[in-house]
Amino acid sequence: MDKSRIDTLRHQPVPDAKHVINGARVDASDGRTMPVISPIDGSTLTTLPKGTREDADRAVAAARLAFDDGRWSGLAPAARKKILLKWADLIEAQAEELAVLGVRDNGTEIGMAYKAEPLSAAGTIRYFAEATDKIFGEIAPTAPGALGLVHKHPVGVVGAIVPWNFPMMIGSWKLGPALAAGCTVVLKPAETASLTLLRLAELALEAGLPPGVLNVVTGEGAVIGAAIAESNEVDVLVFTGSGATGRRLLEASARSNLKRVYLELGGKSPNIVFADVPDLDEAAKISAAGIFRNSGQVCIAGSRLLVQREIYDVFVDKLVAQAKAMQIGDPLDPMTNAGAVNSERQLAQNLAFIDEARAAGRTIATGGNRILQETGGTYMAPTIVTDVQPDDRIVREEVFGPVLTVQVFDTEAEAVALANDTETGLAAGVWTSNLSRAHRMIAAIEAGVVHVNTYGGADVTVPLGGVKQSGNGHDKSLHAFDKYLNLKTAWIKL
Ligand code: ADP
Repeated sequence: MDKSRIDTLRHQPVPDAKHVINGARVDASDGRTMPVISPIDGSTLTTLPKGTREDADRAVAAARLAFDDGRWSGLAPAARKKILLKWADLIEAQAEELAVLGVRDNGTEIGMAYKAEPLSAAGTIRYFAEATDKIFGEIAPTAPGALGLVHKHPVGVVGAIVPWNFPMMIGSWKLGPALAAGCTVVLKPAETASLTLLRLAELALEAGLPPGVLNVVTGEGAVIGAAIAESNEVDVLVFTGSGATGRRLLEASARSNLKRVYLELGGKSPNIVFADVPDLDEAAKISAAGIFRNSGQVCIAGSRLLVQREIYDVFVDKLVAQAKAMQIGDPLDPMTNAGAVNSERQLAQNLAFIDEARAAGRTIATGGNRILQETGGTYMAPTIVTDVQPDDRIVREEVFGPVLTVQVFDTEAEAVALANDTETGLAAGVWTSNLSRAHRMIAAIEAGVVHVNTYGGADVTVPLGGVKQSGNGHDKSLHAFDKYLNLKTAWIKL
């Protein structure tokens, strides 16, 4: 994005935000609001409705009615497609405004946010819109004398709870397939990244999405998220966020209507560099980007570096140089490599991991501290921690910050053992020139995605989902429809 355009947009006042419920912009039922603090400089951007349980219930009731009366699922798929395509076009037409608004809200550097947020959301919605009229049922290969039909029906009301790191991208991963399938949705954005998703819901109405089909309710997770999770009128819950919240959602499902729960819970992803890495400099550059872009607030971030002993010293030196060379600061400067940490709370959490590692005698090879405090914003230096032990908390738990731990290995078997020594399994990276080894590693590593000789490449055509405690189900690709379409069969005697 052009710098002068960014500078114009960054100073525009942000009107008070409202829920979008049943096609209308509404305040919280008790009129309460919460401030939206920009992590760029600590200023207050605007306010959000501090939603109540009543607001969540109203949104769920609107979504329930909109599903049950068929105003969306009853349309011809081609008609749904047309509206969703128009929505994608409107998002794309406002991509610059949405990108800057989102960055002011959550702190991601604009170079990444512009592509990863509005443009990728428009692309994702377009992808699923195009699929709307290409979903077929099946005729089962039964013995003669009977006809086995397999219909695909929308599951009903979807509750979607999303995080603050890439609200539009992750939101569209849920909204695209859910709406294309004919479901209705109640979406709960994160407290610190709600503004763009509210705007997306307004654009959906402008595109012709009937009222009640997409509702967005803002407020605290423990109030709004919990109300959605406990509702008997929500059929499926889709979530991206922390493991602790994921557990609560499963419990809420068990306590209520046993709604299906699909979770994407992040990870502690290993990035494994063998001595036969094709290009050490390239590997160092991409590995640094794979943990430090968006200040490490990326679910697939390669946060555990495993390096083969022969190249350990030289590779760590190169990584430290990469980390030091990164331009950290104002996320609305197009030259910035990593912007602000999302909130004071997240920054404090990141620094607590570092304090603990320091106290245990681990080496902070670079970074480890808050920077640019005079700006009023929440910034942290890219941090590399070496001499760690496999049981250290910093090695086992997701920091969700710009923090990389480094471990050394000798053999391929040792690399696999270290890589899999984690409760989670979302992503991994393997750097090697040996094709056979690459395939052995892809097979052996317990993760949803294994990147080879790169880190973090992705596309809407490729499913993303974790194994182990990283969750279940997949976003993106046509497989995403599995969460939003029920199979219903008919057996007809001929
Ligand atoms: P993080 O710690 O990264 O903010 P969370 O899992 O807390 O991750 O947040 C992800 C989403 O889950 C946010 O939209 C948040 O508001 C929501 N959330 C937080 N707590 C709960 C809860 N108890 N029930 C339902 N949703 C919640």
